[in-house]
Parts: sequence; C-alpha cells; structure tokens
Amino acid sequence: MNSSPISRTPPKSASAPAHLRKPAEATPEAKRAHAWLHTARFLTTAPQLEHLPALEVPEFAFVGRSNAGKSTCINTLTQQKRLAFASKTPGRTQSINLFTLGKQGVTDAVLADLPGYGYAAVPREAKLRWQRVMGNYLITRENLKAVVLMCDPRLGLTELDEILLDVIRPRVAEGLKFLILLTKADKLSHAEAQKALSIAKLQCGGGEAKLFSALKKQGLDEVATLLWDWSHGPEDAPKPADPEHQDDQGDDEEPPALD
Ligand code: GDP
Repeated sequence: MNSSPISRTPPKSASAPAHLRKPAEATPEAKRAHAWLHTARFLTTAPQLEHLPALEVPEFAFVGRSNAGKSTCINTLTQQKRLAFASKTPGRTQSINLFTLGKQGVTDAVLADLPGYGYAAVPREAKLRWQRVMGNYLITRENLKAVVLMCDPRLGLTELDEILLDVIRPRVAEGLKFLILLTKADKLSHAEAQKALSIAKLQCGGGEAKLFSALKKQGLDEVATLLWDWSHGPEDAPKPADPEHQDDQGDDEEPPALD
C-alpha cells in the first residue's frame, strides 16, 4: 500500500502548524478519483480544431502560460511520467492533445492539453493563430465541461490569462466549470500562498481557485476529486468495500523531476 504513488502517511504531529503537517490518508473519494485519472491514455493530437473528434463525454481543458507547470500537473494527476509532453522549448508544442479517461476501457471523460501561450520567442503570426484556435476551441467545443487554468502564483494572472477569462466568462455563467490552479505552491511561504489564493479567488469570477504543488503533492486529492465530481456527480460516493476504488493504483511511474 505504501508503494502507491497516492498513499498517505498519518499526520506527523497534531501540534505542527497545519501547512507543515503531513497529509492524512487519502479519502475513498480521492483514491477512486486517482485510480480513474490513472487510466488516462493518449487519444489524438489536433493541430487545428477541425481535426478534433466530436465527443459526447465531458472534456476538461488544461490551459496556461508556457512554463506554468501544466504538463507536470497533468502527469502528476494521472500518475504518469510522460503523458503530457513538457517541451524543452516552451511554446513549441502547438497542438491540442486529447487523453481519454475511464475504467475497463470505457471512456467517460477526456482531458484536453492545450498549447501553452505567452512564450516570447514564438513568432507573432503563430501566436495570433494559436490565440484564434484556442479562443474558438473555448467558445465552440460542445462537450467542454471545465477549464483548468494553470497559473504560476509568483507571476499572477498575465494579460493572456485575463483574455482567456474574458473569452470563457459567458460560458462560465452558463455552467462551465472553471478552476484556477496556482502551481508550484511549494515555492511560496504559507503567507504568500494564502495571499495569492485570496487574490485568485477574487479573480476567478464564478469559478474556484486552489493551491497546487506537484512537488509536495499539495492539492492533488482535491483536484482529482473535483474532476471526478465534475464528470460523474458528487452524489455517486464510493462504498468502503467497493473494489473499484482499490485497484489500478500501484504503479512504477513517477512524475518528472521538478525545479
Ligand atoms: P508547462 O510549460 O506549463 O507544461 O510547464 P512544465 O510542466 O514543463 O513546468 C515548468 C517548470 O516548472 C519545470 O521546470 C517544472 O519542473 C517546474 N514545476 C512544475 N510544477 C512544479 C511544482 O509543483 N513545484 C516546483 N518546484 N516546480 C514545478
């Protein structure tokens, strides 16, 4: 059990400050969500919108500025080393990559990894083309259920993040789920992290904001459970003896090294 990438040890000491305590054992809901996310498999890559297959299942789009920690977040959430490709040249991977999720080979949701934006060295034309593709995707993708925006809290929301927020605002008002993930939270002090979180909560208008660290596994259970709930509904709680949430977790794959 302890070899599982998502196993948890009990709190170190009740007297330690909350943010220094070791995370408690994952709940059955979190374990089930992790097992589900671990089923992620590459489906297809689409350089343009017309190459995307029409799908019925809920789709979760992961977006963010280059270097925000998006690939690391996807690989950590799915407990796979190289599912999302962290390009050595930020901004180079300019396709939408889809990954299926679902147990027993039955796809019940899809992750969409959108190209990172804002990398200065990308030629202006390519940047504008991608802003159009991304804008069209966010506006027109019918099965889009949620947008997860990765943001490095040391930089805060950038101008392009704000543009993206404006683009999706009408859909959020109509029920599209939206989450700002403040990545690399391990690089902030507790006070800095809380301040960044308060600001992001004000900025996410109708959505949610959470702290996330792939390095410290912070926010991992929460985000995994949220994705599960968005796709299956929170009422579908696992029973303690349900084998569905006990299998498929042991794995030898680790997330990539972090800076
Ligand atoms: P992407 O361009 O958004 O896909 O970003 P990457 O996932 O490639 O991450 C960019 C850089 O941030 C890499 O050097 C990662 O190792 C680092 N990084 C990502 N997540 C974390 C984290 O949680 N903590 C720390 N300390 N570094 C991280």
